[in-house]
Amino acid sequence: MSQPEATKDKSNKIKQKPKVRAPRVNSETQAFWDATAQGKLLVKRCNACGENHFYPRTFCPFCFSDDTEYLECSGLGVIYSYSVTRRGEPYAIAYVTLDEGPTMMTNLIDCDLDALTIGQPVKVNFVDTGEGTALPFFTPV
Ligand SMILES: [Zn+2]
Repeated sequence: MSQPEATKDKSNKIKQKPKVRAPRVNSETQAFWDATAQGKLLVKRCNACGENHFYPRTFCPFCFSDDTEYLECSGLGVIYSYSVTRRGEPYAIAYVTLDEGPTMMTNLIDCDLDALTIGQPVKVNFVDTGEGTALPFFTPV
């Protein structure tokens, strides 16, 4: 993950403007990254066992079926766990559990790093990489 730049405003809320690198896209993840550029967060749904999974891949990690398809998410979830790094400009990485089930590693942005809590509701907040993709980060709601 890249290291974000951060500044504090009068309310002590950290406004982060992360510098991000574009992901390496391959044929298995092309549809996922194309969707991020349109502000859509996708997970994979398995038609054989009905489970949703993330990261996107051809074979279901629960039953190994290749009968999987993309499902558009609400973009809503809760913080499962997080860690704040204060060396240099502070930033937070987290695991967020999506309403659709899967848990994904991400960054928390546009938030007060001292007010984060486990279980806190968050919403996806895409950061443009400038190369036709966007990274799905999250912000408390
Ligand atoms: Zn399955």
